[in-house]
Amino acid sequence: MQVNLAEAVALLKAGHVVAIPTETVYGLAADARNESALREIYAIKERPAHNPLIVHIGSSEQVLDWATGFSELAQKLAAVFWPGPLTLVLPARSAVSSVVRAGEPTVALRVPAHPVAQALLQQSGLGLAAPSANKYTQLSPTSAQHVLNGLGEAVPVLDGGACQVGIESTIVAVDGNQWQLLRLGMITEVALTAVAGVPQQIQLRPPKAPGQHLLHYSPQTPLQLFTSRAALIDAAARENSCAALLLGDGLIEHCTSFNVPNNPVGMAEKLYDTLHRMDALHVEKLLIEAPPRTVEWLAIHDRLARASHSLN
Ligand code: AMP
Ligand code: MG
Repeated sequence: MQVNLAEAVALLKAGHVVAIPTETVYGLAADARNESALREIYAIKERPAHNPLIVHIGSSEQVLDWATGFSELAQKLAAVFWPGPLTLVLPARSAVSSVVRAGEPTVALRVPAHPVAQALLQQSGLGLAAPSANKYTQLSPTSAQHVLNGLGEAVPVLDGGACQVGIESTIVAVDGNQWQLLRLGMITEVALTAVAGVPQQIQLRPPKAPGQHLLHYSPQTPLQLFTSRAALIDAAARENSCAALLLGDGLIEHCTSFNVPNNPVGMAEKLYDTLHRMDALHVEKLLIEAPPRTVEWLAIHDRLARASHSLN
């Protein structure tokens, strides 16, 4: 069911969940201090209780409402990348619900840039826990229609158009003046290192962390990655029914072809929408032309590998 901004604010303040737009993907939002609302998120997503939620806040001035410290390094990253697709994992205040933290001593915080998400945060005055608005392990939604298709009419959805970043935020754990990448996103390790001034410290946090279930972000249809167009064309000839995702121009015979921009920012924006559309064809196989394994493509590579179940 579609709701407008005022209705979304009222629902959130009353302890209900609402699917909301952010620049990364649509989130299933609830008041991060309301435990029954938080439990509703886990129930709708069928998400295991040990997988913590990101808390979205209106500005970095609210960090100390949730975290016990905001180190110089964390402040530097926030100053450059907020509002935007960066999540900081910081030591949590004890008052932060263990439901949102999933029992971790840390809390994950992000200031989203999407104007509708910002308006919701300002008008509600809440911190909003908001994991992606899809069932656990399935493809993330990047439009209101994806949310409706995945979660059904019962969940209120605020339509803010198509997400511009298109994949989930980069997650960084910060402990004092050390940091570690917990999830790849469009803000790259190179960009983070340039701002941090020091390289990341591996194993700062136990690798239990983030969204890193192997079957994350998966379409229903089996999906295979190809490192060359020629190999993809060969495979397509052997399939009964298939759809192909191609970097840049082109068309594959006997296969419904989908073209995405051949650059990381352009492809990230279209990636999930394209996979949703390919999945809806109910063909036997999705064939994907994989981008090169260079730094700027790493986050997209990560999502494709998870979607193909080939990451280990
Ligand atoms: P999602 O909201 O589904 O994009 O996923 C958020 C991810 O952030 C989860 O998979 C978490 O594991 C990670 N995350 C959230 N809170 C914490 C935390 N307190 N410590 C470490 N990782 C976290
Ligand atoms: Mg998710």
